[in-house]
Amino acid sequence: MPRSGSGGSSFTAQELKNANLQLVHYVRELEALYEITAVMSSGRERGDFFARLAGHAAALTEVRCAAFFLRREGDGAFDSHPAKSSATATVLLPAEALENFHRRLAAGDRQVLRSSKDIKLFFPRGGSTAGVLLPLTVEGVLEGFLAVADKRKNSLDEDDFRVLSLLTGQAVEYLTNRRLAREKERRLKDLVVLHEVHSLLDAEPDLSKTLRGVAKKVAEALGAEVCAFLLHEEATNELVTQPCAWGLPEGERSLLYRVQVEARTSSGRVFTDKKPLLVEDALRDPRVTARSAKLWNYRSLMVVPLVIGGKCIGVLRAGHNRPGMFSSDHLRLAGLVAEHAAVVVENARLYRRVQEDMKEFRRLSDLKTDFLSMVSHDLLSPLSSVQGFVSLLLKGEAGDLAPRQAEFLGICAKALQRVTLLIDDLLDHSRIEAGVVKLCPEPVDAVDILESARRDHEPSAREKGVELSSNIPGSLPRLTADPQRLRQVLDNLLRNALKFTPKGGRVVLSARAGKKELVVSVTDTGIGLSVEEMEKIFEKYYQVEGAYSKRVRGSGLGLAICKSLVERHGGRIWVESTPGEGSRFHFSIPFPA
Ligand code: ADP
Repeated sequence: MPRSGSGGSSFTAQELKNANLQLVHYVRELEALYEITAVMSSGRERGDFFARLAGHAAALTEVRCAAFFLRREGDGAFDSHPAKSSATATVLLPAEALENFHRRLAAGDRQVLRSSKDIKLFFPRGGSTAGVLLPLTVEGVLEGFLAVADKRKNSLDEDDFRVLSLLTGQAVEYLTNRRLAREKERRLKDLVVLHEVHSLLDAEPDLSKTLRGVAKKVAEALGAEVCAFLLHEEATNELVTQPCAWGLPEGERSLLYRVQVEARTSSGRVFTDKKPLLVEDALRDPRVTARSAKLWNYRSLMVVPLVIGGKCIGVLRAGHNRPGMFSSDHLRLAGLVAEHAAVVVENARLYRRVQEDMKEFRRLSDLKTDFLSMVSHDLLSPLSSVQGFVSLLLKGEAGDLAPRQAEFLGICAKALQRVTLLIDDLLDHSRIEAGVVKLCPEPVDAVDILESARRDHEPSAREKGVELSSNIPGSLPRLTADPQRLRQVLDNLLRNALKFTPKGGRVVLSARAGKKELVVSVTDTGIGLSVEEMEKIFEKYYQVEGAYSKRVRGSGLGLAICKSLVERHGGRIWVESTPGEGSRFHFSIPFPA
């Protein structure tokens, strides 16, 4: 036998020929893989891709017939995608036949296609007598087979099996990618629907209009004919169809049915278990009551719970009059929509409750204001007559008074004055709240008003041992204001300053003209206020707790009245203070434009 080469290694011509053949085979294999990868990334249509792949299977293993059989959506049968050269027609294999082969393959039987009867199932016109099947399993699910058949028995060797496994690997990768792409597409669609639903939820304050919009969107996205919200009514423990249902004839009230939660209907069950329900055919499913199916004329049904904070507040139902119209994908989308809708329903309910509470609150507040003004008014007239008589007695009009009598009557007169002030505050406040206080603005000389207020408080300052002074410019721009109400604000602030400043302290009334407004300040060296107190003192009925404040208790309305009056004039009121050092109350009144 001739030898070639030199040195230690030499090959026979036959060996070289075989090696060469092997090399050619590998190159063809590589070329095929290269082409498959290119086709895969070009996004070519599924049938074309598998026909090409089958073509490579036939060419690389040199068999007559090769075809992929892929599971069809819907009925689960398998479609064939044969290599162009394969002597076979496109056939449709029943699912059971292939499942049977799959079982045998799973048990380790590689050559499952032994009889020509079996092979005929795959290649009816090929006349093949031997064949193999390789399964395509994607994420644990059998998606199809690669079938290869030939006339020669044992025509496939180990190397062919290796090539065929390589090709089925490519097929599985292709199917996985397609599945992922489809999943991505579905998610994107879900997102679009959710976005649309979300914009509806945000835009429309009226709950029934919102729910109608959502029901319509959901019906469109799911391809449903009827879509409705059933909300839980606590008083009756019923689920009540909302009039905003989509797909029900307008105004047909008999269709807006209500069900007891305990009655084990599909809605009642979903509501109680907080788990969604998918029904292929309502007519054959015992979980669905014939009444609701007949009423709304559906066969396919989907019910999802509306859950918020772990509590179920109702259900969303969608139906179609043909069976098998909804899949788990539809159910997932409906679930996502239901999550959003539950928040909106709950918000709307809370809003309604707050509005009802506000209405009740306003009613009670009006009642209180009426009551206060009635009581204060009725108190004021006997009080002023008592005050009149006490003052006559003090003047000696009913005869001379013994010193003790005069002292006691003096105390009575002061107490009466305090009560009158309290009632005045109450009356004023209730009038302001009721909106019956009308301002009577007129041109006002601020210097006059300020100086006369200081003068009038002089006696009580002296009596208390507090120095009262003013720092007011000789002239100020004229204001347009209600002089009586302006005086009321000044009196309140001066009275407070004197009230909360111990003996030996100082109170200063000052004013300065700003560009657009007059700013009046009342400064004292009294007990002062903490930051938290400063935030609250303009609220009605607020009084600072404390030993000193307790001794000089008022109505807690004075500053609230000042605030209303100043604001009615278009101004503002504020305070600066340091506890233990004193306070500085300011208010502003804008100059006329
Ligand atoms: P009251 O009739 O109780 O004085 P106000 O509304 O006039 O009601 O004042 C509310 C509370 O603000 C007072 O109870 C007091 O605690 C505090 N306050 C008001 N003015 C002063 C001040 N000049 N210095 C310290 N505390 C003050």
